[in-house]
Amino acid sequence: MGLDYEKLGLKIGIECHQQLEGHKLFCNCPTEIRKDNPDFKITRRLRASAGEVGRVDQAALYEQQKHKYFVYHAYNDITCNVELDEEPPHPVNQEALKAALQVAKMLNCKIVDEIQVMRKTVIDGSNTSGFQRTMLIGMNGFVEVGNRKIGIESACLEEEACQIIERKKEYDVYNLSRLGIPLIEIATSADIKTPEEAREVAAKIGMILRSTGKCKRGIGSIRQDVNLSIKGGARVEIKGFQEYKSIPKIMNYEIERQLKLIKQGKKPEEQVRKAEPDFTTSYLRPMPGMDRMYPETDIPTIVPEIKDVKIVKTIEEKTKELEKNYDISKDLASQLVKQNIDFENYVNKYKNLKAKFIADTLINAPKEIKKRFGKEINVFEYAHDLFARADSGDIPSSAVFEILTEIAHSKKPDYDKYKGISDKELEKEIAELIKKNPDAPIKALMGMLMAKYRGKVDGKKAMDLLKKHMK
Ligand SMILES: [Zn+2]
Repeated sequence: MGLDYEKLGLKIGIECHQQLEGHKLFCNCPTEIRKDNPDFKITRRLRASAGEVGRVDQAALYEQQKHKYFVYHAYNDITCNVELDEEPPHPVNQEALKAALQVAKMLNCKIVDEIQVMRKTVIDGSNTSGFQRTMLIGMNGFVEVGNRKIGIESACLEEEACQIIERKKEYDVYNLSRLGIPLIEIATSADIKTPEEAREVAAKIGMILRSTGKCKRGIGSIRQDVNLSIKGGARVEIKGFQEYKSIPKIMNYEIERQLKLIKQGKKPEEQVRKAEPDFTTSYLRPMPGMDRMYPETDIPTIVPEIKDVKIVKTIEEKTKELEKNYDISKDLASQLVKQNIDFENYVNKYKNLKAKFIADTLINAPKEIKKRFGKEINVFEYAHDLFARADSGDIPSSAVFEILTEIAHSKKPDYDKYKGISDKELEKEIAELIKKNPDAPIKALMGMLMAKYRGKVDGKKAMDLLKKHMK
């Protein structure tokens, strides 16, 4: 590539959208996205209305000129009259609001004194009401990436749109189940200088969002939009990045596209473009203006309870702590945090077991069993029982993996088979063995010992005792 971003005057801002678990933002429906056959369908037409300053937004006009109607797939048990826009919104979901406040604070934002729900005109059919509800929670924050502080312009809480099923010439079909899922929207300032930095910032914000423990997981639960401009070019918004690593590639494509236009003497246009799976971009719609916002009159303003907002440790901080406190690898620590395992509890409970052994069993044993034998095992179902046996010396810790493997093969483990001998007995055994074989090298003695006690004594312990008695 070899693009000189500084010379190009590249400016980048990103927006991250993260869905939350729980119930919907303005009703009690679950945040469940369903794709099966709907219980019923409704049809709507939408019209653009003027924004706060009396003008109709150009992006809204663009959609209206298509003269399309919209079909919505609805479900009796997981969508209600709020999603259908036949009932006013209920008060804001307090759990979602708390999560948004928490994220705003973790991103060093100034929390607003009063939260005002706004309506943002959206008439592409993705919302039955013709607008999306959104509220500003915090602003003027920052996030640190590398040694740089990247500004956070705003942290908002908004409602997720319907999911598109298919687009036809006369109408579009949408699934209503996604509409209203709480969505946190984080927008950075145009401080980012390179596509690679954009990827890092997106990953960091994603990590902070997930640290609240309230985020939805899986494809589509987090999405990024990128705003970029270069000297002589135009500000373009690229939507729909599905993974962090595609961000630099797609941005480089877009920069090259604009450079080509400039070289041909053409002026690139401000527009919204779509990130494509082949790392290119395609035209989506005109850039929306400021004319599309107006206040939501059905919901009173909210004064946030800032003192109740708790900052939690981030996934990154927790990982570093585990690494340091228990002397385990970064990879193990990161897996323990990602899987939300209460590792401290295990370590405190089974004091005779090494922290590394516990981590290794919880994280790697199931992977190893899957790799070697193609069998699945839920290690957490058996971990406490096996750790307790190993902790009390009932079985050696070296037998835990073998027992898990047996369970994975649907065998009932015979614990007696693994029953270890006490350290005292082992020591006695070793002393006798040395006496009987005074000239045998230590390796041979170890071989004899392990042939007799394989899976019952810890190899390292046996070796240590041998060394001690052979002196
Ligand atoms: Zn509902």
